[in-house]
Amino acid sequence: MSNYTIISPVTEKPVQDIHLADVTETDAIILKAAHAFESWRKVNPGDRARILRAFASLVDSHIEELAQLEVLNSGHTIGNARWEAGNVRDVLNYYSAAPERLFGRQIPVPNGIDITFKEPLGVIGIIVPWNFPMPIAGWGFGPALAAGNTVVLKPAELTPLTAIRLGELALQAGIPEGVFNVIPGKGSVVGDRFVTHPLVRKIVFTGSTGVGKQIMRGCADQVKRLTLELGGKSANIIFADADIEKAAAGAPGAVFDNAGQDCCARSRILIQRSAYDKFMELFEVAVKKFRVEDPSLDTAEMGPLISSTQYARVSEFLPEGTPIAFQGSKPTGPGYWFAPTVLAPKDSKDRAYREEIFGPVVSVLPFEDEADAIRIANDSEYGLSGSIWSRDLARAVRVSRAVEAGNLSVNSNSSVRYWTPFGGYKQSGLGRELGPDALDAFTETKNVFFDTQG
Ligand code: NAP
Ligand code: MG
Repeated sequence: MSNYTIISPVTEKPVQDIHLADVTETDAIILKAAHAFESWRKVNPGDRARILRAFASLVDSHIEELAQLEVLNSGHTIGNARWEAGNVRDVLNYYSAAPERLFGRQIPVPNGIDITFKEPLGVIGIIVPWNFPMPIAGWGFGPALAAGNTVVLKPAELTPLTAIRLGELALQAGIPEGVFNVIPGKGSVVGDRFVTHPLVRKIVFTGSTGVGKQIMRGCADQVKRLTLELGGKSANIIFADADIEKAAAGAPGAVFDNAGQDCCARSRILIQRSAYDKFMELFEVAVKKFRVEDPSLDTAEMGPLISSTQYARVSEFLPEGTPIAFQGSKPTGPGYWFAPTVLAPKDSKDRAYREEIFGPVVSVLPFEDEADAIRIANDSEYGLSGSIWSRDLARAVRVSRAVEAGNLSVNSNSSVRYWTPFGGYKQSGLGRELGPDALDAFTETKNVFFDTQG
């Protein structure tokens, strides 16, 4: 029996003690989810859809409560936290249309009829990181439940409060007992058990690339299905022909949102050399205006880092002598506050330029021409997201086809929409979440041939 004390990143004071499940408790819940699967998969499509809509509607009427919980637990700005809770509602609503549309195919074959079915997998193990506790959980459990699977979900040890509340709301909405189970616990205990337990048929993991690789190795033993959403070092590529004012005004939010603890953070700004000075001048004004303050204020654009450990990790990237171009502001007093920081490295060998920092630090590097921009952008082991700023449509098309990343935006920094697929190239991940095809990741295709020869 062990407990974890949640610490507020804003006050550094204890918030609540959480019981952490051990292996025996985890096994019991996995078994319960496996039993619940037998009946949940048989619920009529229309009824399953109706229950998911009821869940969405209950989340909708608890948006403010869920958002306040996230501010308390994670120090997210209240504006972001409301969006995050709303995203859970939207994802549930979107996939509530799926049970009634989980079509197979009828394929022409000789001597009979051939039909494919989309069958649910069984118990799905979802492992969630601390940076976006609500949306990342919902991207897993929404489509998983809609396809007829049951779910065991492990929130990050640091941020379990909203997941626990979502588990309660699910029951209240009529999701049957055992179908959606939230298990707070350690990654090395509960998360690892999802990987080794034979009744967990798929892992959906979001987190660091290191742990993702370990999970991938573990899944090999049982050829367990796996989706990975891992780290990033995304490029914000700005051509001289772009609306530089707009690109500069948007660049702080693109990397400092959620205090940079965002796998899609545009943490490398690549700016065409001829526009470098103009951009840096405008960018400095925008960074200094960026509001780092008490996240419960409606005006807050950035809160503190999640923990003292994360503060120490981010600080390590800025040793004495780091070429800091300029910094924004931060409050004084308690809280894991880190000022938005802009670096101007000499070249691309800099550690802060190459590695994922997961904090409010961005590196700016000039490039010469289109080919140079593509080469520099792709010179990374990651490939999650990125932005391209140009008024030349043909160039924007060429560059967006050439950049090796799963989610790009042109003249915009927004990469997440629940209607569209999300996921990474290279070491940023495996598989895709969200969008119309997410159900494929939570079903097996079964092919059945019916002989009609008599
Ligand atoms: P992490 O250490 O990899 O943890 C992620 C989750 O995995 C947590 O729930 C953690 O539990 C659990 N875990 C840790 N070790 C495990 C193990 N051996 N077996 C099974 N589960 C284990 O990552 P983090 O520090 O929470 O999050 C930051 C990282 O996530 C960043 O690198 C970021 O880029 C990445 N991320 C990626 C995306 C994306 O969509 N691509 C989204 C968000 C975050 P504990 O809480 O107990 O450690
Ligand atoms: Mg960790």
